[in-house]
Amino acid sequence: MKSWIRMSYSTALLLPLLLASAGCEGPEKAEAPAAPSAAAAAPAIQEEDVARISESIADESLRRHIMTLSDDRMQGRLPGTEGEELTVAYVSDAFSEMGLEPANGDSYYQPVPLVGITGDPSMALTITGDDENLVLKYKEDFMGFSSREQEQVEASGELVFVGYGTVAPEFNWDDYKGVDVTGKILVMLVNDPPLPDVTRFGGEAMTYYGRWTYKYEIGAAKGAAGAIIIHQTEKAGYPWGVVAGSWAGEQFVPESADHGAGRMPFESWITGEAAAQLMAMAGQDLEALKEAAAQDDFQPVPLGLTASVSIANSIRRVQSRNVAGLLPGTDLADEWVIYSAHWDHLGVSDPVDGDAIYNGAFDNATGVAALLDIARAFVALPAAPRRSVLFLALTAEEQGLIGSYHYADNPLHPLAKTAALINMDGMNVLGRTSDVIVIGLGNTTLDDLVLQVATAQGRTISPDMEPEKGFYYRSDQFPLAKKGVPALYTDHGIQYVGRPEGWGLEQNAAYTRKNYHKPSDEYDPEWDLAGMIEDSRMLFQVGLLAAQADAMQEWKEGTEFKSVRQRSLAAGGGR
Ligand SMILES: [Zn+2]
Repeated sequence: MKSWIRMSYSTALLLPLLLASAGCEGPEKAEAPAAPSAAAAAPAIQEEDVARISESIADESLRRHIMTLSDDRMQGRLPGTEGEELTVAYVSDAFSEMGLEPANGDSYYQPVPLVGITGDPSMALTITGDDENLVLKYKEDFMGFSSREQEQVEASGELVFVGYGTVAPEFNWDDYKGVDVTGKILVMLVNDPPLPDVTRFGGEAMTYYGRWTYKYEIGAAKGAAGAIIIHQTEKAGYPWGVVAGSWAGEQFVPESADHGAGRMPFESWITGEAAAQLMAMAGQDLEALKEAAAQDDFQPVPLGLTASVSIANSIRRVQSRNVAGLLPGTDLADEWVIYSAHWDHLGVSDPVDGDAIYNGAFDNATGVAALLDIARAFVALPAAPRRSVLFLALTAEEQGLIGSYHYADNPLHPLAKTAALINMDGMNVLGRTSDVIVIGLGNTTLDDLVLQVATAQGRTISPDMEPEKGFYYRSDQFPLAKKGVPALYTDHGIQYVGRPEGWGLEQNAAYTRKNYHKPSDEYDPEWDLAGMIEDSRMLFQVGLLAAQADAMQEWKEGTEFKSVRQRSLAAGGGR
């Protein structure tokens, strides 16, 4: 019988993994007795307790949470709506009933101020050349938006093609080459430059430079009047319908002191077809430009066209909420392990096949359900864990990870004292898998804990199957990772038990095509939650190991956020 205070699974094979992951430097240190205060003070959590409590994470309650959260009554859980009221009440009531403490003083809520902006869909994007005009239609050809808090926004400027719109000194890459783009409207490609040298931009894997959020940020920093990103289904990882659906209707931006003046007046996407038309009008060939953009000597290309758009915005202010419940720790209570899952989805919007409620059952009622059941499992432990554990249901993920960014900027406990974060977004509803996918495998010591627990479950771990889609940057772990918190994001496996090879990837593709960010992301009574149950149990145990380990989790050598963490620890007096 092993105590979870010092170790978990007793297998000789697994033990070194735990010790290594606990941040021990060598064998002498690994074998050294625990500091007396640490080991003696905290009551034991035994392996058999963990096994028993893991089994309490089961079909019935997960299914009930998913059904409730994705019910039409929840109206698609859009921030600032009745759907939010019902959702945050459901989550905070669950926290309260299971005995978690309010994590924000005496409240389970962390207010997240948002500005809701709805652009009038009658907007058109007019491209003007020497002797012709091209009028692009909203939704059909382009999606445009202004985060400026103004009721009327006019944007116009000369069009300049800036390749991938990226400035990455560490990869010795600069698409702008010092060209002044103040007041211009930038035309750019999605993703990272596809360089043959895999040491730059992570090879196949997408870096943050490939995300549209980055492209808009650098455009604003360069003083551009707007940006037009050329959509490519393959590269973006989702079809045009997702761009159109996600950007239609009310969009939320974080409340900012400058009322959005730091953002470009115009942010947009166009279809590949519209882009080809525009390039033809400029006497350019889109394919040739793409090739040029993948070369080190690429120079911005003025297109000899101007673009203009006029956007009528309606604006409202909304106080949304992150929901936060805390299980206080024991001897290391001052260090926190966080579980997160976003509670929000897209609300009621454009109908598809007569259905206007974007239920978000998979995305992310499943993640919140797992969060609630993992929390309940922690509470059921015979003794509190060493570190405190925070259960965080985040708002406005679908609007650009806003709830998570807000938490990262206003943490309820110092990030330097945050030992680990485990984020859940979309749990497996299609049955058991023999593998577990770790998005960004190799990033942190949490991977070793996943390996340990997955191995004990008789499963294997694999890296991201679609690294080019940059999933690590697309959910709530990213804002905290960016600030140095070791953050884990697993995805369900793809090797489904009893299914042929390739079935899992086919299912992923079918979901992206048919249901992702569509009203058809609905609860299906046929869902087989066996895989979700196994993954939730695994994440419960991974978080428990992180809560019990002697050291906080760490970024591995050579990873993107290790230096940020080191600075954070130095400034924050981490142990
Ligand atoms: Zn999601």
